[in-house]
Amino acid sequence: MSKRPSMAELLTISPAGLYCEAGDFHIDPWKPVARAVITHGHSDHARPGSAAYLTAERGVAIVEARTGGAVEGIAYGESQRMGNVTLSLHPAGHILGSAVVRVERDGEVWVVTGDYKADPDPTCAQFEPVRCHTLITECTFGLPIYRWPDASEVFAQMNAWWRAAAAEGKTAVVFSYALGKAQRVLAGVDASIGPIRTHGAVEAMNDRYRSAGVALPPTSPVMSGRVEPGSLVIAPPSAGRSPWMRRLGDTTTAFASGWMMVRGRRRQRSVDRGFVLSDHVDWPQLLDAVAESGAERVLPTHGNTEVVARWFREQGLESQPLPTRFSATPEDDEE
Ligand SMILES: [Zn+2]
Repeated sequence: MSKRPSMAELLTISPAGLYCEAGDFHIDPWKPVARAVITHGHSDHARPGSAAYLTAERGVAIVEARTGGAVEGIAYGESQRMGNVTLSLHPAGHILGSAVVRVERDGEVWVVTGDYKADPDPTCAQFEPVRCHTLITECTFGLPIYRWPDASEVFAQMNAWWRAAAAEGKTAVVFSYALGKAQRVLAGVDASIGPIRTHGAVEAMNDRYRSAGVALPPTSPVMSGRVEPGSLVIAPPSAGRSPWMRRLGDTTTAFASGWMMVRGRRRQRSVDRGFVLSDHVDWPQLLDAVAESGAERVLPTHGNTEVVARWFREQGLESQPLPTRFSATPEDDEE
C-alpha cells in the first residue's frame, strides 16, 4: 500500500463502540445507534435497538433474527457510499454471512476484521484478505500456542468417537455454539454413522443455513421424539447443565472449540472429549492476515491485545491495542 495519509482517524471509539464520523455509522455497536454496520450475527456483535442495520447479504436473515431490526444487505465486494466514505464488505470465513469491513476515504483504507478465520469451512464463504493502511483485527487466540490442527483430522477423530459411542449403544453429544460452529460440525461429520438430533436453538439456525442454500445433513430436534442409541446430538453448551439432557439416555459428551487446546478446559467443562475446532484465526493465520493486508498499522482487539501489539511493534509495524468494552476473553459459548 502507499503510505497512509496523515489525516484525522477514520475510525474512533465512541461511547457506543467503533465509530466512523466521516460516514456517520458504527461497526458492531455496544449500544443502540442510528446506523449500525454488523460484521456477523453472534450476540456480542449484533445487538438489538439500533435504527438501521447494514450487513452482508448472506447474513441478513441471521442478523434480523438477532436484532429484531430492519436489516439491509449488500453483496460481498459491492461498494456503498456512506457520507464521505466508501464502504464494502468482504468474506470473513467465520460463520454464514460474516464480513470484514473496508472503509475508504480519499485513498486511505481501514479494515475491520470482525471475527474471522482462514481455515476452509463449507458453511460460509472463504476469508479474503483485504489491502489496507490500518487493520483492526480480532486476536481472540492471538498467542503462538494457538495452532489449529487440520479440520479434516478433527472430523476424523469426531467420527471415530461417534462410531465408538454408537457401538456401545450410547448417544454422542457435541456441545458447540448454536450459530456457526454447530453447522460446521454438521457439515463435517459422517452422517452415515447414525441419526443426527439437535437442540432447538441449533435447529433454528440450521433452518437459516438451509434457506441460504448451505448443504447440511438431515437433522431432527430432540424434542420431536425418542433419541435412539447411537445418535449424534448437537447442542449449545448451556444445554449440558439443564434437565434437557435426561432425554438423551446414556451419553458420552464432547466440546468443539478452540479453547479445547488449553489444558484443563475440557475438565472445567466436565466433558469426556475435547475437539479443537475454532472459527477464529490461530497465530499463524493472524500473522498471514496482517502480512497479506499490507497494513502499516495494526490495532488488535478482543483477546491478548497487549502481547499481540508488542509482537507487531517488534516486527516494525505501528501497533497498539484498541480498547473495547469486553477486555476479557469471550465466553466459550460465543466461540
Ligand atoms: Zn463471532
